[in-house]
Amino acid sequence: MLNNWVVMPTCLPLVLRRCHTCASDRFRANGKFRVNANHKLLDAWLLVLCTSCGETAKLTILERVNVRSVQPELLDRLHANDLGLAAELLQDPVVQRRNRIALDWDDAWRLDTGGSGHMDREAIDVSVRFAARIPVRPVRLIAEGCGLSRAEVERLITEGKLVSAVRLSGKLSCDFTFTLKR
Ligand SMILES: [Zn+2]
Repeated sequence: MLNNWVVMPTCLPLVLRRCHTCASDRFRANGKFRVNANHKLLDAWLLVLCTSCGETAKLTILERVNVRSVQPELLDRLHANDLGLAAELLQDPVVQRRNRIALDWDDAWRLDTGGSGHMDREAIDVSVRFAARIPVRPVRLIAEGCGLSRAEVERLITEGKLVSAVRLSGKLSCDFTFTLKR
């Protein structure tokens, strides 16, 4: 029997970036954008607020781009302060590189196991899907989803009762499957 688990974002991740006003290195996006048009050239930023002092920083999204080359739909979403767009852009590797930011997903996701009741079976196959590129430890996910301690999960891996095509140590942010035999 195949079980489907989903790693779901519950809110926007924090932005790792040093604050120039205080010593904090965490910023929070609230979906607000600033768009500036100047002689047909467009700049757009995603605003983020320091979680400690509230200082605003701007993440560059568009830089001196010709207005005509910007998709009207994107422009509408920028003007509408679209929270979904903020989520997409924060996860965009290009945006991350350009602004030299990384994301902190702690407390910003949950595991949806689609209900319990499968644990009494002898063997379960689980497909884990990531609704966003959220780096998490498979050991932690499996422990939470199966109601086991992390030490128990580690032991099951060592004993070969918990197997996967991917490495279960370290962190993952892409879909994987595993089999647990008891
Ligand atoms: Zn600050």
